[in-house]
Amino acid sequence: MQDFLSPISTNSSQNGYVGRFAPSPTGPLHFGSLLAALASYLDARANNGRWILRMEDIDQPRCVDGADQLIMQALLAHGLQWDGDVWYQSARLPVYQAVIQRLTAQQQVYGCVCTRKQIRAQGGVYPGTCRTAGHSTAGHAVRLQCNSIVTSFSDAILGQICVTEPHALEDTLLQRSDGIYSYNLVVVVDDIAQGVTHIVRGSDLLDTTAAHLTLYKILDAKAPAYAHIPVAATAKGRKLSKQNHARALDLATPEDNLLRALAFLGLSSVKGDTVSDILDAATANWQYGNVPKMQEVIVDEAESTYHTGRNN
Ligand SMILES: [Zn+2]
Repeated sequence: MQDFLSPISTNSSQNGYVGRFAPSPTGPLHFGSLLAALASYLDARANNGRWILRMEDIDQPRCVDGADQLIMQALLAHGLQWDGDVWYQSARLPVYQAVIQRLTAQQQVYGCVCTRKQIRAQGGVYPGTCRTAGHSTAGHAVRLQCNSIVTSFSDAILGQICVTEPHALEDTLLQRSDGIYSYNLVVVVDDIAQGVTHIVRGSDLLDTTAAHLTLYKILDAKAPAYAHIPVAATAKGRKLSKQNHARALDLATPEDNLLRALAFLGLSSVKGDTVSDILDAATANWQYGNVPKMQEVIVDEAESTYHTGRNN
């Protein structure tokens, strides 16, 4: 596993900072995904770090042909140039398999034969039914035996976080019974392999951090620093997403898109006529302290006015 999980030295910046944007290519970039791209970009540039791009195309049935190209085109239109080659998770299946095999040999995982229906009937949170059943991990769902799960961590924006959401604390699913590797596995394996030191992402992923930190511990890897920005939502609990029919960004108005995204991130003072002027000013002014300390901000239909949502 050392081969797969050793950070690749060419990815390191001079000061060691590596940040990333890791979208799923399920559709074009919209305002919600621009926020995560922009915040992670500004944090990397403000720290003179590297900013890499990774396509999280592990769940192939959900991916849309050509969406990766649309995302890259949109990033470039907004001046968000990444460093190095783009990684595709679909090209890394043997690595994920090797990690599962290693964890199996270390008896850190187990095969689970429970159906969703059975888990629902038991209250919806997986109670660890198969932990001692001795099912093979081959051909079955694979779960991590979370004996000492990491539940608290310090978030650079939100402060001290203690994850209590029951689903986030169950034995983490690493591979589905249909063979597809879970987001929680591949995101950690790839962040380790790419030497990612700082993760800036949407607060919809806040609870998953518990499973991620637990995996870092089990894989004996140094965990990155986390900063969670608010997600844009059209109503409470309704994140702006492709599922909610978020509009694709208009690539003819990148300056306006950037200024709206910066206002959302607490940088409404940034001005500029060109994309590069705006990004330079935003990089110079980027601070975690400016970002609204909340998990969700309600945006209107045009994503132009922001209202405080749930504040926790
Ligand atoms: Zn089970």
